[in-house]
Amino acid sequence: MEKETFISKKSIEEMLSLSGPGARDLREKAARVRDECVGRKVYFRGLIEFSNICSNDCFYCGIRSSNSKTERYTMTPGEIMECVRFCDESGYGSVVLQSGERRDGEFTGFVTETVSAIKSEFPEMRITLSVGEQDRETLRRFYQAGAERYLLRIETSNSSHYRKLHPEKMVFENRRNCLETLRRIGFQVGTGVMIASPYQEIADLAGDLLFMKAIDIDMVGMGPYLPQKDNTLKDWSYDPQEALRLSLNMIAVLRIMMPDINIAATSALQVLDENGREKAIASGANIVMPNVTPLKYRQAYSLYDNRPCVLDTPYGCYNCITQRIEGTGLLPAKGEKGDSLRFLKRKGKRIDVCNC
Ligand code: SAM
Repeated sequence: MEKETFISKKSIEEMLSLSGPGARDLREKAARVRDECVGRKVYFRGLIEFSNICSNDCFYCGIRSSNSKTERYTMTPGEIMECVRFCDESGYGSVVLQSGERRDGEFTGFVTETVSAIKSEFPEMRITLSVGEQDRETLRRFYQAGAERYLLRIETSNSSHYRKLHPEKMVFENRRNCLETLRRIGFQVGTGVMIASPYQEIADLAGDLLFMKAIDIDMVGMGPYLPQKDNTLKDWSYDPQEALRLSLNMIAVLRIMMPDINIAATSALQVLDENGREKAIASGANIVMPNVTPLKYRQAYSLYDNRPCVLDTPYGCYNCITQRIEGTGLLPAKGEKGDSLRFLKRKGKRIDVCNC
């Protein structure tokens, strides 16, 4: 049985640098750790990208505020409820409401009301919010309305690297403080970084993993940086194979460092490799996030170029991802909430399945 052990930054850097048979062994070990600790199941979160209006201007992102080429939308409450209904009927134990980042009252009120409406019609559905940095009172309202989980990517844990990817008014410390606030309120807290992003060094990635461990994160959704044709970093030289190798190694090392957390096989990996998500599962991931956003909005949520599945219906995504998981030999965990075991343990809940 694998126990959680301290791994030095230098060892992490060495593991992240592995390729060929060394990388294969690392990923196989991580998959064994996953199997022993959280089981051979993959949990579903239906992803609803409900708005692409954003007040941030992140240099890498296609929906950043200054990109006038993006057609902006916000789904209606009825459209969102239709998506949740589909998730409920499909046995997805959880939905993720994701959008661009806004802090105005109209937006935060809309999110609170939407969470309440989902909870009153589907009390068992777990709700994850991914709506960016918010103040303590707003986050508390989201929690009281029924959102149990929150995903806030930090993109990088190195504040000077963060500075190179964001305009001056965006500050890494605010993001980190927000993660702490989320934890204090009671959320299951998730974060993530972009892998192989401009200006990033291997030491930054090792630092990211140590950061996740230090803040005792419950769940992680990290994926490769991908070029976007309208963004200010579009000319940065990019090696897709290297981004894939690093992304899979990051998942594997994190699984070994934190055996009982939830780790997503993000769809961004599928841009780099048709079987990117299966490779992530084979490297220790245990979560998938099939997109359930209505087709008419998919193209406009253009975070990066060549987004996968933009023409696949929610039902098509359901069948495709189920088959892909079965192909890896793991069990698609339909009808299960898939709470982070690390979170449940911290709360003192009895865990029958966890062996670590
Ligand atoms: N607004 C929320 C937040 O900031 O947490 C969530 C939505 S944000 C638009 C979703 C995520 O997409 C970002 O946190 C970033 O990691 C990712 N993203 C944006 N542009 C990307 C790119 N070019 N390549 C890869 N990932 C990208």
